[in-house]
Amino acid sequence: MNITIDKSYMLAATGTLQNTNEIGFGYEADGVKAKPSTGNTLTWKFSAQNVHDFVWAADPNYAIMKRQIKNGPLFYFVYKKVDTLQSKWKALADTIVKAYPFIAKTFGPYPYKNYSFIQGGDGYMEYPMATLIRNVSIGANIHEFMHSWYYGLMGNNESLYPWMDEGFATYAELRVSGWLRGDTIFPFTNAYDSYSRLVRSKLEEPMSTHADHYNTNYAYETSSYSKGSIFLVQLGYIVGDKALDRILLEYYDEWRYKHPNPSDFIRVAEKVSGLELQWYKEYWVYTTKTIDYAIGDVNDDKGNAKITITRAGLMPMPVDVLITYKDGTKEMHYIPLNMMYGVKPAEDNTPRIVHPEWKWVDTDYSFTLTKKVGDIKEIEIDPSKRMADVNRVNNKITVP
Ligand SMILES: [Zn+2]
Repeated sequence: MNITIDKSYMLAATGTLQNTNEIGFGYEADGVKAKPSTGNTLTWKFSAQNVHDFVWAADPNYAIMKRQIKNGPLFYFVYKKVDTLQSKWKALADTIVKAYPFIAKTFGPYPYKNYSFIQGGDGYMEYPMATLIRNVSIGANIHEFMHSWYYGLMGNNESLYPWMDEGFATYAELRVSGWLRGDTIFPFTNAYDSYSRLVRSKLEEPMSTHADHYNTNYAYETSSYSKGSIFLVQLGYIVGDKALDRILLEYYDEWRYKHPNPSDFIRVAEKVSGLELQWYKEYWVYTTKTIDYAIGDVNDDKGNAKITITRAGLMPMPVDVLITYKDGTKEMHYIPLNMMYGVKPAEDNTPRIVHPEWKWVDTDYSFTLTKKVGDIKEIEIDPSKRMADVNRVNNKITVP
């Protein structure tokens, strides 16, 4: 792509600038003095491979900041020369440098030579190898950069499956932001809360709805961004977080540049985890059925405690139940769902007991402990809170 323009304008665009030393403006290699051609115009020559769209922006008042990642991409930060913003742009640049190794390790390396954060009129918009942004919000900038994977590299059909790029980009944004904060706490709470509000509003439509065909922008946005990000967090609950990490990298290896659809993603998740997952896609993507598990009766059964769990919602899930005893010990009980044809691996060091599968048609399920009712201090369904249970009030009880 060649753009010839008045030489007072500085450009930023998709692609790698081929004639940096004729252009200058800070694009020239370190230690090289640019030699712009004489005349009133400059011709900017950009080249890009494996992209499906492009953007360019021009302004006579742009400034540029560069950050080269060792064995990784060169980041450009192109912003208007307004004094008050400079420190924010520097903070953004330093944050991206800090985040990149974690991003590459978790989602796969960014395969292009460079990426540009460009101050432009739009709010935040993703393009291959660049984004146009209005403000320097770090979370939103990470979101846009993560679109390089989920839309850019994958080439998802955003009209048909908006959740595969907005949801996955939101998942990546929240995960990277949480890592940057050094969070030991769950970084996805806001997404779960916004999904729950949508359910209560009764405006929810299936996530499989074409982006242009939702009845309300509210339902489109919350389904695509929040419910779409929960799709991945909750997949981690179903298959285990370690398997989810392997799924994300396998998806990158197998499907980049190839336009995957939801079934392609699920097939990767099935192969990596060894579990059947079509049911998860069918319920979570194609319906608005919700999840609600509740602790029912806790009875004595020949000296042992017998616990009944009820599926009060219409969507079935495998169930983690954490029992805390009065002596301080903890026991994880795991009930796989029969449609999974398998069990997830134990996820932490808490002793785990795997029970027979729960048939999806049954609304109640009981299991017996090796201890007495009086030994139990607390019973909690899904203590990791990755299951999108829309009514958590009935998930936890304390035994008096
Ligand atoms: Zn987005």
